[in-house]
Amino acid sequence: SKPIMQIENITKKFPAFGGKLLTACDKVSLTINVGETIGIVGESGCGKSTVAKTILSMHAPTNGKILFRGKDITKLKGEERRQICRHIQMVFQDPTAAFNPKMKIGNIICEPLLNFNLIKKFQIKEKAQELLHLVDLPPDFVDRYPHNMSGGQRQRVAIARALALEPEIIVCDEATSALDVSVQAKIIELLVKLQKEKGITYIFICHDLALVSLFAHRVVVMYLGNVVEKIDGDKLEKAKHPYTKALLKAVFSVDEEKNQQIEILTGEVPSPLDLPVGCPFQNRCRYCRDICREVKPQLEEVEENHFVACHLQE
Ligand code: SF4
Ligand code: MG
Repeated sequence: SKPIMQIENITKKFPAFGGKLLTACDKVSLTINVGETIGIVGESGCGKSTVAKTILSMHAPTNGKILFRGKDITKLKGEERRQICRHIQMVFQDPTAAFNPKMKIGNIICEPLLNFNLIKKFQIKEKAQELLHLVDLPPDFVDRYPHNMSGGQRQRVAIARALALEPEIIVCDEATSALDVSVQAKIIELLVKLQKEKGITYIFICHDLALVSLFAHRVVVMYLGNVVEKIDGDKLEKAKHPYTKALLKAVFSVDEEKNQQIEILTGEVPSPLDLPVGCPFQNRCRYCRDICREVKPQLEEVEENHFVACHLQE
């Protein structure tokens, strides 16, 4: 399949206290193919949301490029940026924050279409019903208000709204994290169905590797602003980075083994303002050696399409 987006060496720094700079993500590169699901996984503060916001043009990177259909979208402004945003939509963790509580669901879903003058007011109801159907909600939801729905239903509405402009890419940032496990599974099922029907590309950002492993074609593991491993979703059990392996123990193991996982991940995540020299994972890694405290490991291809940043691989 063809690449739809190429993320090249994205670095984002934010000014912080005392004139320091916080590096939220550091030289992140990623090629995303048409119709695939990329899972970006890591604990909170690992830089995954920063990458998402950069993809969505919500902020410009400090360095690096994002090519969408071959065109760098990081420097676009005004109308050109707006037109690109049409093709890259988003679904966030808490749709209630994005929904106007006084608006009916039909209007919420069709708002992007009105903004782009793609429908007239009198067409809202019919169009909204069509979109509700796609996300398996009944047509009479057009007249409801956001507070009259469950969390799962609201997330379906958020997906319907994201679908309205027929985007090529949907970025989901912790889109199912606030939901019960059973509701989560239903939303994932829906996303997979929509992908099959429409060939949508997903960038699925999530702290839960177990969930991502169920449906992502490619998995990118981030730690403290760095990509530490990239691997095919169906090869996850071959992961090599000690951090990925620690996350995986929680996925594939029984309870006694989980204690071991807790052991590996006991150390605190260092402050992104005070990054250690060498490997960012060193203080939590049981395999840490001298070189790990001196030299930052770079991503190396260890097998076809499998990249790891760890000195153990050398
Ligand atoms: Fe552990 Fe060293 Fe690998 Fe970092 S580079 S993950 S400290 S073994
Ligand atoms: Mg986040």
